[in-house]
Amino acid sequence: MDYEVTLLMSKFVTHDVKRFVFSRPDGFSFTPGEGVELAIDEPAWRDEGRPFTPTSLTEDRVIEFTIKGYPQHEGVTRELHGLKPGARLRMSKPFGTIRHRGPGTFIAGGAGITPFIAILRELAQKGELAGHGLIFANKTPADIIYEKELRHYLGDRCHFICSEAEVPGYEHRRIDAAYLRETLDDFGQNFYLCGPPGFMDAVTESLKGLGADPQALVFEQ
Ligand SMILES: Cc1cc2nc3c(=O)[nH]c(=O)nc-3n(C[C@H](O)[C@H](O)[C@H](O)COP(=O)(O)OP(=O)(O)OC[C@H]3O[C@@H](n4cnc5c(N)ncnc54)[C@H](O)[C@@H]3O)c2cc1C
Repeated sequence: MDYEVTLLMSKFVTHDVKRFVFSRPDGFSFTPGEGVELAIDEPAWRDEGRPFTPTSLTEDRVIEFTIKGYPQHEGVTRELHGLKPGARLRMSKPFGTIRHRGPGTFIAGGAGITPFIAILRELAQKGELAGHGLIFANKTPADIIYEKELRHYLGDRCHFICSEAEVPGYEHRRIDAAYLRETLDDFGQNFYLCGPPGFMDAVTESLKGLGADPQALVFEQ
């Protein structure tokens, strides 16, 4: 691991997702969409690095992560959710293949929104949100990370899909080829994809079947 960071604060942003703010080490920089490996700097956890995605702006003087915890599972995310300010972590250099390549549609499932939060925040800051849309799949409205911010950025170009709740303002669907055909009118655009493995397979296959160019699909490889 290349850097040491200190936890400054953490706060719930949904019932099971927390926002973490860390000190920013000298010399650290990243491209929005990239991930890093984080490990809690304690004997039992030092070798347990896990990948997470900074959601802050590149020039912020702190680093923010947005991390879903799995309370039933004795893993790093549960331990992270219990950390107090002052906790020290080790952090790797940034890595990854998700980065902005131009206007297009972001398609995310659950915590897969994090690379797109980083990219959208940068686009918002530069005034370059035009031509971008979002399809964001979750189980229920209570699971949606940073919903107000996303609606503020993208307005009616934001589609919130809820697979397990029928609530006005949210689409009670799954993302499949039929949904994508009804929702999108241009399959020649860039598509940015991030979510759990089953979600990635289903969305990638559906987009290719609808004529999307495999070279225009941006995802973590
Ligand atoms: C490049 C990249 C970037 C990422 N960025 C983010 C991010 O910004 N925010 C974020 O929240 N996540 C992110 N993730 C996912 C995150 O890395 C995982 O959630 C994390 O590694 C899980 O670590 P863990 O030790 O808690 O679970 P592990 O022990 O590593 O288990 C892996 C997964 O198995 C499942 N699991 C295993 N056992 C159980 C159990 N008993 N009960 C429930 N679930 C179980 C969980 O879904 C868990 O995610 C990213 C992943 C990648 C590859």
